[in-house]
Amino acid sequence: MTIHEAHRLLKTKQLSSVELTKACLERISQVEPRVHALVTITDELALRQAQKADELIAGGDTNPLTGIPGLIKDNMCTKGIRTTCSSKILENFVPPYDATVIEKLKDCGGVVVGKANMDEFAMGSSTEHSALFTTHNPWDLSRVPGGSSGGSAAAVAAGEAIYALGSDTGGSIRQPAGFCGVTGLKPTYGRVSRYGLVAFASSLDQIGPLTQDATDCALVLNAIAGYDVRDSTSAPEPIPDYTQCLNTELNGLRLGIPKEYFVEGMQAEVAQAIKAAISKLEGLGARVEWEVSLPHTRYALAVYYLIAPSEASANLARYDGVKYGFSYKEADSMWEALEKTRQYGFGAEVKRRIMLGTYALSAGYYDAYYVKAQKVRTLIRREFDEVFEKFDALVTPTSPTVPFKIGEKVDDPVQMYLSDVCTLPINIAGVPAISIPAGFADGLPIGMQIIGKPFSEETLLKIAYAYQQATEWHKRKPEL
Ligand code: GLN
Repeated sequence: MTIHEAHRLLKTKQLSSVELTKACLERISQVEPRVHALVTITDELALRQAQKADELIAGGDTNPLTGIPGLIKDNMCTKGIRTTCSSKILENFVPPYDATVIEKLKDCGGVVVGKANMDEFAMGSSTEHSALFTTHNPWDLSRVPGGSSGGSAAAVAAGEAIYALGSDTGGSIRQPAGFCGVTGLKPTYGRVSRYGLVAFASSLDQIGPLTQDATDCALVLNAIAGYDVRDSTSAPEPIPDYTQCLNTELNGLRLGIPKEYFVEGMQAEVAQAIKAAISKLEGLGARVEWEVSLPHTRYALAVYYLIAPSEASANLARYDGVKYGFSYKEADSMWEALEKTRQYGFGAEVKRRIMLGTYALSAGYYDAYYVKAQKVRTLIRREFDEVFEKFDALVTPTSPTVPFKIGEKVDDPVQMYLSDVCTLPINIAGVPAISIPAGFADGLPIGMQIIGKPFSEETLLKIAYAYQQATEWHKRKPEL
């Protein structure tokens, strides 16, 4: 059931939030032994929240999220609930406060059924870098769900929650959404407050919804978007009602297809499915220009893997065994305690990023790597500004392939990094993008990415909505 379907039943009292929440919890106990999407199940809290939601609804509350069970990626702080980032170093960390997005969901009378698995500190594309366990793709349990918000995407696809929140630094909402056949939106940088989101790369991180369709995506964005005094990078732009733009009127909308995103080595079925989906949009009235070029796209991967690790190395310096989480106790000196805490607390991928980042920032290399990457970042951003003078949105595949096998890329960091070639440039430019289901190959979902200008989430949701009104891909569910 989608949020809007459930809301209708709640409002007309054909269903209570307690019943709905119990159904989700039951589904969790049925499929979780195979999917492994949840780090923590907050069943008691969820039932208390559901009871309260039912009282609110009885009192006339009409918020569309009231009483709807959702799931939170485990890098968003939840007061009194363990927030692990799927890392040993935070395995027992219980935050004393809520992230802004959590406060906002609570204000809507939302229900939280649990915390979702992820790659450790959101570094990865498969959840295989979780220090706790790997999540399995509900469409084929031998394959990855994508990452880093793999737990969030798999849980929504498997019906364990009606929607989920994820975070996206280089593709972590869109890529798992594509791999699991759900809808995932990375909003414009600054659209949603990052307060209480455990920082990975602060100039790239953004929270967003993973849902079953565009309407639900609009409903969740309505609830979480907006300026926050506690996040100085959140934008003071007005927030529209994102459901108002949901219509099938695509006439005259200008779509560009950037050729650089149909990369060499891309799976043929993926390119075919996306081209067919674009033709569908054309049939719905959009004006499509089939060969647009963004030549700096080829530098995005290199830029990302300098900037993201640099910021990560600074952000992760706070885990010293004193302030948070795991602390190595048997050391003889303060330095040894610090060293061993980080040695045992962080996994291999996190250490790799810290090393890359400290190297790129060190004296002598700073100008050659970090500063150069920032300059190219500006070029990439300008290139987007320029094409958006001619187009309302760009359409690309979300990933070059369908979900890969568990174990296939985990020992080859570069191969893993390449699975995000189509999503990284968007975070570098700070623009919004949505991934929606657009076909299947061998029973595995294919995601289509729609990219927009800053603060044009309405345009993206409208295109997604129109496409979903005309197709059935997003309605398919894995059999499990
Ligand atoms: N897969 C990319 C990385 O490993 C992006 C992750 C993300 O968006 N958090 O950094």
